[in-house]
Amino acid sequence: STVSPFLHSGPRTKKDSIAIVHLSRDNLVPTILNGTVGAVDGYAEGNVINTRFGSFPHSTLINQPWGSQVRASIVDTGSRGRKRKAREETDEPSNDTEEPTTSAKKPTAAASGFVHVLPPTPELWTMGLPHRTQVVYTPDYSYILHRIRARPGMRIIEAGAGSGSFTHASVRAVYNGYPTESGSQKGKVFSFEFNEARFHQMAKEIDAHGLKELVQMTHRDVYNDGFLVNGESPAAESVFLDLPAPWKALPHLSRSRPATLSAEQPWVSPLRPDRPVHLCTFSPCIEQVTRTVDSMRRLGWMDIEMVEVAHRRINVVRERIGSNLPGDRSSNQNPADVSEALDRLREVEGRFKEFHGRGQKATQTADADADGDLDMGDASEAKDSKTNGSTEQSSPKKDTDSSLPPFMLGNLVHRTEPEIKTHTSYLVFAVLPQEWTEEQEAEVYQKWPCGQ
Ligand code: SAM
Repeated sequence: STVSPFLHSGPRTKKDSIAIVHLSRDNLVPTILNGTVGAVDGYAEGNVINTRFGSFPHSTLINQPWGSQVRASIVDTGSRGRKRKAREETDEPSNDTEEPTTSAKKPTAAASGFVHVLPPTPELWTMGLPHRTQVVYTPDYSYILHRIRARPGMRIIEAGAGSGSFTHASVRAVYNGYPTESGSQKGKVFSFEFNEARFHQMAKEIDAHGLKELVQMTHRDVYNDGFLVNGESPAAESVFLDLPAPWKALPHLSRSRPATLSAEQPWVSPLRPDRPVHLCTFSPCIEQVTRTVDSMRRLGWMDIEMVEVAHRRINVVRERIGSNLPGDRSSNQNPADVSEALDRLREVEGRFKEFHGRGQKATQTADADADGDLDMGDASEAKDSKTNGSTEQSSPKKDTDSSLPPFMLGNLVHRTEPEIKTHTSYLVFAVLPQEWTEEQEAEVYQKWPCGQ
């Protein structure tokens, strides 16, 4: 069986295997490296990744230790070269922000940026995957997998598969080896998707990522047709439902036959009989939560709890205004009166304006440089500070007197990044207790007789 690079990436990038090409913090390009190994001077046959930082023939990315920095080919691709040439001829300023593309064209002109090649992980896949739907992000799925007790060797049901973000995280959580001839039970994800195009795309990706034996993809409307695979029970201990109406799927996740099924429809429980089952549903609206919880109660689920993961990235910076510099009037002490407070406010406003002006200029210059094929590290920094909306927080370096101890340079403050969405969805967790048979009761009683 093909060993998935998501589970065992090995020491180096490999031909025909996936790598995550890291352009900047927010720009990751998952790529199957299929160029010709060992091509000379970047004149590779095979594919080329074209970015604003230069061209990267796949051949230059193959057989590199993971994490390597790879410089752009000394040549550029045809399309990008032509664009730049046309610009130069017309003296047109560049505002080229095109997305990275992969082409099979020969590189033709020089460029000077760099990228890093990173091993595929569920986290990086989530950041770079082709979105076909809303996806579950790392802060949510880390918590969900923990709460539904995902661990090596377990079998998980997930619906719907969507873009496969959760699928990749869950398969790593339950992986404990590939299935063996002897049929020993290995961790597995049973993934259901109703939309045909998404199902086929997901199946293709799972195959390309070497995960086919560990993820069982099924094209299914789970509301009507439940969770059996070829009539057999997945025997799942954990369930994750990212569906518009989880309450419609819940009757199938029962230990007894759902009343909605016709007599002819075969049924066994898709749940592992001898363990409690842990379930999570993921719904953006509180109305969905209410209906889900209502249905859970009726169907015997217990320990029902709703959680919202409010994930925030916090920037910690040194506040330049109101520093502790000797002789600085706007130091930490409280103002003596209203007029002093007003004076301070004006001073602060003035400094802010000056500061913003400088920040903007710096960003514009960096942008211009980036188009002129600035070293990619610098360009991405400029881009990142723009995307973060945090230009005002990067202190102008020339004001910093490095001979002063940090505490005299101003107060440390922290700000959350305002544009980061905090509400993704409400997570509803519940447990379906193990069902005890008479024999099990008798067995337990024999082992630990009580009341004697
Ligand atoms: N959890 C996924 C991820 O992390 O990429 C995203 C799931 S997406 C929000 C919801 C998916 O559920 C859609 O792809 C949709 O087609 C699928 N879906 C909706 N109703 C369904 C049903 N009755 N049976 C199976 N899948 C369904």
